[in-house]
Amino acid sequence: MLTTITLPRPHVPTGPQGVPEDHADADYLRAVVMKIDSGFTRVGGSGVTAMIRNLIADAAEVLEAPPSTPGRDIQQLVRDLIDRDDCEFDHHGGCQAHGYLSLQPGEMCPHAEAKAWLAKVGA
Ligand SMILES: [Zn+2]
Repeated sequence: MLTTITLPRPHVPTGPQGVPEDHADADYLRAVVMKIDSGFTRVGGSGVTAMIRNLIADAAEVLEAPPSTPGRDIQQLVRDLIDRDDCEFDHHGGCQAHGYLSLQPGEMCPHAEAKAWLAKVGA
């Protein structure tokens, strides 16, 4: 099961003025979560409301997360940068396919390491 998916940025109509856009949008989304939690706003049945509430809360967290947090941009960057071709090792253990010719015993080709990381984080 995927633990992280990439969705388009939520369309936020308004937010506080004079603060960075990510903070303004996160603030708006958190206000929506507070309205749902207080019973002011309902979306469908209780299961649907809970799902929408959690989706909105997660989006607010991602907007203000540091760039190094997996799930924001890093997974997509890694996905874009890795070569889809498999490694091809020479008799010295270097990866000919990706140009990492002086890998030491126990070292992985960075492309293989990146693919393993993406599989681990559920991308
Ligand atoms: Zn390789």
